[in-house]
Amino acid sequence: MTQIVQSYIAGRWVGAQPAQVIRSAVNGRNIFATHAEASDFGEVVDHGRRVGIPALLKLDFQERAERLKALAKYLQASKDKLYPVSSHTGATRADGWVDIEGGTGTLFAYASLGSSELPSGNLIHEGPVVPLGKGGQFVGSHVLVPRRGLAVHINAFNFPVWGMLEKFAPTFLAGMPCIVKPGSSTSYLTEATVRLMVESGILPEGSLQLVVGGTGDLLDRLAGEDIVTFTGSADTAAKLKRNDNLIRQSIPFNVEADSLNCAILGPDVSPDDEEFDLFVKEVAREMTVKAGQKCTAIRRAIVPRDRVDAVITRLKARLAKVVVGDPAREDVRMGPLASHAQVEDVAARVAQLLAETEQVLGASDGFAPVGDGVEEGAFFAPTVLLARQPLTQDTVHDVEAFGPVCTLMAYDDVDEALTLAARGKGSLVGTLVTRDTQLAARAIPLAAASHGRLLLLEREAAAESTGHGSPLPLLKHGGPGRAGGGEELGGLRSVKHYLQRTALQGSPSMIAAVVGEYVRGAKVQESELHPFRKTFDDLAIGDSLLTHRRTVTEADIVNFGGLSGDYFYMHFDAIAAQQSPFGQRIAHGYFVLSAAAGLFVSPAPGPVLANYGLDNLRFTKPVGIGDTIRARLTCKRKVDRKKVDAQGRGQGVVAWDVAVTNQNDELVATYDILTLVSKKEADAA
Ligand code: NDP
Repeated sequence: MTQIVQSYIAGRWVGAQPAQVIRSAVNGRNIFATHAEASDFGEVVDHGRRVGIPALLKLDFQERAERLKALAKYLQASKDKLYPVSSHTGATRADGWVDIEGGTGTLFAYASLGSSELPSGNLIHEGPVVPLGKGGQFVGSHVLVPRRGLAVHINAFNFPVWGMLEKFAPTFLAGMPCIVKPGSSTSYLTEATVRLMVESGILPEGSLQLVVGGTGDLLDRLAGEDIVTFTGSADTAAKLKRNDNLIRQSIPFNVEADSLNCAILGPDVSPDDEEFDLFVKEVAREMTVKAGQKCTAIRRAIVPRDRVDAVITRLKARLAKVVVGDPAREDVRMGPLASHAQVEDVAARVAQLLAETEQVLGASDGFAPVGDGVEEGAFFAPTVLLARQPLTQDTVHDVEAFGPVCTLMAYDDVDEALTLAARGKGSLVGTLVTRDTQLAARAIPLAAASHGRLLLLEREAAAESTGHGSPLPLLKHGGPGRAGGGEELGGLRSVKHYLQRTALQGSPSMIAAVVGEYVRGAKVQESELHPFRKTFDDLAIGDSLLTHRRTVTEADIVNFGGLSGDYFYMHFDAIAAQQSPFGQRIAHGYFVLSAAAGLFVSPAPGPVLANYGLDNLRFTKPVGIGDTIRARLTCKRKVDRKKVDAQGRGQGVVAWDVAVTNQNDELVATYDILTLVSKKEADAA
């Protein structure tokens, strides 16, 4: 009996009647069906706006990061429920790992980024603060705030779990409800994942809805504060992008589409080099992982003309070792395509490519998938094509066969190789295999113009390389031109895509009040109690201490030189110092820093637990012998990470603004120091 893949709309599972039957990719049996009931998109949008947005914004960045971590742990602990479902898509255990654990890994990465990089509250201050007037009374800066809208994610069939989670993680952190529409042919795996996410009870109501089947009038119901992201074919992207409502309301539409990614074998690499095998291995791996159904897979392998034969021989030998068949079998390294429709699609595209190429390896070379019932499965033979004159051909640079298919392209010199790479008209990723650093330095700036990511591969990087085809949470995913022109991942960059950036202008005190962060020039509060003696809870932004003064002496410089071993001429050679732009011996910058700490620190044990670094350090003026310095220490920013110390006491992060000035009130050093400050005893966790 086929199981109905349901939608999750407004907090309930919807769908009882079958619509489109979904066959197992492995043996062709009917296993699932999308549901026939039309989704009420009015209800979907209303639920997201009325329930999802307030529920998400009741939490702040830090709390959402915490939930994301809990969710990642929950899914990781439940992963064994997903692997059997994943195998119906044709995924081997290794393919499933990329999809399932790659997905949870992305959640973990974003949870950690959110916790360490995002503030408490729901506003990000994106500095710097820039003076807009001469007197320092009018300044400007930027803030990022939740858009108070919905995110519609239309995903491709090839990564039913990762494809959803890599977009969900930044969206959730940003405080936007997600409406996820998976590719129908593998929607059952996305549905299984969403069931776990809902069952976890970790997500606020309305923060995630799942739409199986068509999107009906969903896009027509969106508004300017919403966002649409799309992964799939360029044709569908172009069609959806033209939606009248999206255009009229300037609704951002992020696209990740077809990409004719390339790998270039450098002219310096001979068949005896380790790099030669690295190249062949990378091409073979990109053809066989997920049966080549990766938006990042190498579709074009660009090879020096005199190395073509050697590459063919090694590539054939490597691919011959790949056992294709039922992914449930231990010996199988490559499964079928995700659907029977994809087999037809890939076959049609290979036929197009063959009009310009020679077949080097294909189904006629003894292709025989192993396993029960595989005759009815969606298998496709690893296929290698050869273009001898790729500069004069178009199809090889235009047609993406979304399966285990790669075209070798011969080139005569590096400029030609780079021209061929750019013929992809914008790609997600490219790889250059070379040991020649000069070549890399010349080629990469040219190749970067048409690529979203570039991998430089040689023996040194190989030991730890994550590979050509793996998008990583901290690196940008998305490419220009044909690849869609979109951007995903890239650490916090992707969270910012789901936030609104707004420029702010006003007095420092006003800007400080809005951004919740001390801004130089804003009013401060001074009291008898040293700020270091206040707990995290009692500290207020703007709590400040102006220290006593200290005159810098020659003895200070000599002592500091002796202590640190820093005898730089500027501090110790009067003649050289006199000839320098400063015209005199000056104090070490690090002495000024240390002396400032001596001025502002309150030495007795107290709530400040640790000083773990400083940011934005600048020495803005030299300090000479006889200059008199003092420091102003001001509580700049507080971040409550809900952490507890070893004794179980709660603690938070406090950033302090430090301004060191001289006897003329001129700034000589400026920086932020970062400390951990404990909370009141009563708040102990
Ligand atoms: P599609 O572009 O057809 O589908 C992508 C997503 O869009 C799916 O969720 C699909 O849903 C949805 N969709 C399709 N038509 C509409 C519509 N009119 N309104 C709303 N949503 C729609 O790509 P496929 O996934 O079918 O793959 C086709 C080809 O695209 C592949 O063979 C490959 O060449 C390329 N591709 C590229 C990828 C990349 O990242 N570069 C990833 C995947 C595919 P449904 O499944 O229900 O039709």
